[in-house]
Amino acid sequence: MSAEAKLAKLGIRSRFDLVLHLPLRYEDETALTPLREAPAGKPVLVEAAVKRVEVAYRPRRQLVVHAECDGEPLALRFFNFYGSQLKQFERAAEQGQRVRAFGEVRPGWFGAEMAHPRYRVVREGEPLSEALTPIYPTTSGLGQQALRKQVLEALAEAEIEDTLPEAMLARYGLARFGDSVRLLHLPPPGTDLAALAHRTHPAWQRMKFDELLAQQLSLRLAYRARRGRAAPALASNGPLLRRFLGKLPFRLTPAQARVMAEVLHDLAEPHPMQRLLQGDVGSGKTIIAAIACLAAADAGRQAAVMAPTELLGEQHFRKFSEWLAPLGVSVAWLHGGLSVKQKRAAQEAIAAGEVAIAVGTHALFQRGVAFARLGLAVVDEQHRFGVQQRLSLRRKGEARAGAAPLVPHQLMMSATPIPRTLSMSYYADLDVSVIDQLPPGRRPVATRLVADARRGEVLARIREACAECQQAYWVCPVIEESKEGELKTALDTYETLTRELPQLRVGLVHGRLAAADKAAAMEAFAAGRVQLLVATTVIEVGVDVPNASLMVIEHAERFGLAQLHQLRGRVGRGARESVCILLYAAPLSEGARERLKIVFEISDGFEIARRDLLLRGPGEVLGERQSGVPLLRFADLERDQALVSAAREAAEGLLASDPERARAHVARWLSGRQDYAKV
Ligand code: ADP
Ligand code: MG
Repeated sequence: MSAEAKLAKLGIRSRFDLVLHLPLRYEDETALTPLREAPAGKPVLVEAAVKRVEVAYRPRRQLVVHAECDGEPLALRFFNFYGSQLKQFERAAEQGQRVRAFGEVRPGWFGAEMAHPRYRVVREGEPLSEALTPIYPTTSGLGQQALRKQVLEALAEAEIEDTLPEAMLARYGLARFGDSVRLLHLPPPGTDLAALAHRTHPAWQRMKFDELLAQQLSLRLAYRARRGRAAPALASNGPLLRRFLGKLPFRLTPAQARVMAEVLHDLAEPHPMQRLLQGDVGSGKTIIAAIACLAAADAGRQAAVMAPTELLGEQHFRKFSEWLAPLGVSVAWLHGGLSVKQKRAAQEAIAAGEVAIAVGTHALFQRGVAFARLGLAVVDEQHRFGVQQRLSLRRKGEARAGAAPLVPHQLMMSATPIPRTLSMSYYADLDVSVIDQLPPGRRPVATRLVADARRGEVLARIREACAECQQAYWVCPVIEESKEGELKTALDTYETLTRELPQLRVGLVHGRLAAADKAAAMEAFAAGRVQLLVATTVIEVGVDVPNASLMVIEHAERFGLAQLHQLRGRVGRGARESVCILLYAAPLSEGARERLKIVFEISDGFEIARRDLLLRGPGEVLGERQSGVPLLRFADLERDQALVSAAREAAEGLLASDPERARAHVARWLSGRQDYAKV
C-alpha cells in the first residue's frame, strides 16, 4: 500500500489533515525512572549502558541486548528485528553508548527485562524530551515514529491561522487554534495530564468546538443552498384540500393542527420545503402527509410517498385511497408483486401525470420512475433509511432539479424521536415539526415483564382477550445470523401456537413472504379474520390495526430499545386498554436487563431515545455502521452538550457576520467529508 493510501485510511488527505490528526494518548519520556523504582505494569523510560548483544534461539529466535543500569543488569528482548538493529547495538556496545528504552520492566531469569521496548541509542547526558510523546491512531504498516515525524513537519510548515474572529474566542472562552494544536501534539512539561486524558483541557475543548462548528456550518450552508432553489408554490386554499378538511375522518389534535399549519405554510413558498416531522408512534403523522399531498394535487402537481417496507407502503396505499379516492384523487401503489406489465403501466401513468399520488418503497422509486410534475416527496420513517440512502434521496431531488428548474418539496417523517442534542447536531439542515401529543382516548400501554417459564399464563391471556373480540400480535425474535433462521423461528412459532390455541384463527407474516401474500395476511388481520398474528419485525414500523390490544414479544431481551418501543406502539391504538408482554429468557445479560428495565419504566419515546443514545452512542443510533464513516471524531454529543449549543449559536453568528471565514472553517475540517455532513 502506498504511503498516501495508508494515510487516506486514517482519513488524512491533505497536509492540514495531519495537523488535525490528534493523539489518542501520551507517553511520558520526559524523565528517567531508576530501574529499581519501575512500577509493575506501567511503561516507563529507563537508560542503560549497552554491554553485549546476542542472537538467541530459544525459546525462539530473538535479539537480546544486555545492558547495565545503575549497576544492575537489564535485558532488552526483540523477537522481530532487522540486521541493522543488531549492528546498531553492536556498535553501541563497542563505543560504550547508552540506550533509552520505553516500556514495561519485568523481572526475568537474570534480572530485569523489557520485551520489545521502544528505544533510542544515545550518548551519555543527551537531553530528555521536553514534551510528552504523542501516540497517534495509526494503521498497519505505518509506524508511530514515521507518522509522528510527518505530523510534526506539517505542524511546523502548515499555515495555522485561526478561522475564528477574536470576538468569538472571547465570547465562548476559547483557546487559540494554533496554541491548541501545538499543545496537543507536543504538550510541554507540566501540562495537566488528566485534563488531556479526559479531553477537558482547553485545547481539546477548542478542537471539539471547531469540529462541531464545522458540522453546524456545513449543514446550514447545505440548507441555504437548497433553500435558494425554486420549488412550485403549493397554495393551501385549493378545492380538494378544503373539501378534505371540511370532512376529516377525525378531529385533529392541537399538535397535528399546529404541524399542519407549519407544513402548509412551507409548501406555499416558492422554495423547497425541507421539513422533518417528528412524532411518537401513533401520534398521527399519516394524515399530515395526506394533507400535504392534497396541496400538491390542488396545484396540479404529483406527490410521491416513500415507505421503508412494502407492508407499510401497502397500508399507506389503503389509507390514502380510503381518504382521497372519494375526492377523485388517483392513488397508485408500486410494489414488488406487480407483474412487469402492470409495473410498466403504472410507471407510464406516473410519467404521463395521470397519477396524482404514488406510494411505494424507496427501491421501487429508484428504478427509473420519472414523474411528469413532481411537487412533493414524502419519506415516511426516514430514520429507517441508511445514511447512504438518505444521501441519495437528497441527491435525487437535486439531480431532478437539474432537468427541471423546480425542486420538489420534501417532507420527512420519523417515529423514532431523536434526542434534542442529536437532532440539533444532525438535522441542523432541516426544519423540524413535532407532534407532541397523542390522539384523544388513548390509554397508555401497560407493559409486563414475564419470564418465559410462565408462557402458559401468557397463552391463557391471549385466549381470554380473543374471546372478547380483541386481537393480538406475537412477535418472534430477530435471529441475526441468517434470514433463514428468522424464517424458521417464525414458522416454528406459528405451528406451535396454532397447535396450542386451536380455538383461534392464527395468521403469519414475515419478510420472506411475497408482497401479495404479506398484504393478504395483513388484510386478514386488519379485517379481523385473523385473531392472532405471528410476525417478525416486519410489523415494526407503521402498521396500524386499532383493534389489536395485546402484544407478546418473545425473547424481548434480543431486541434493541428503539425496536421494542416501536413494536409496543403497534398496540394502544384503539380505545381499549392495551398490554405489551415482554417475554424473556433468563438469565439476562447486563445490557438486556438494562434495556428491558427502561422499556418497562418509560413510555415516552423521547426519553427512551435519549437513553438509547446513552447506551449505544450516536453512531449506532443514526446508523453510522451503514456508512462506515465516523460522524464526529472528537466531540461527544452527550458529554459535550454545552459545546453543541454554543457551536450552533456560533454558526448562525459566523454565517451572518463573516461567510468567508465560515467557508474556510468548513474546508479545514470537512475536506472530502461534506457529503456525510449533509445527510
Ligand atoms: P403514526 O404517527 O405512528 O404514523 P398514524 O398516522 O398511523 O400514526 O396514526 C395512528 C392512528 O391514529 C391511526 O389509526 C390514525 O387514523 C389515528 N389518528 C390519527 N390522528 C387522529 C386523531 N386526531 N384522532 C383520532 N385518531 C387519530
Ligand atoms: Mg406512521
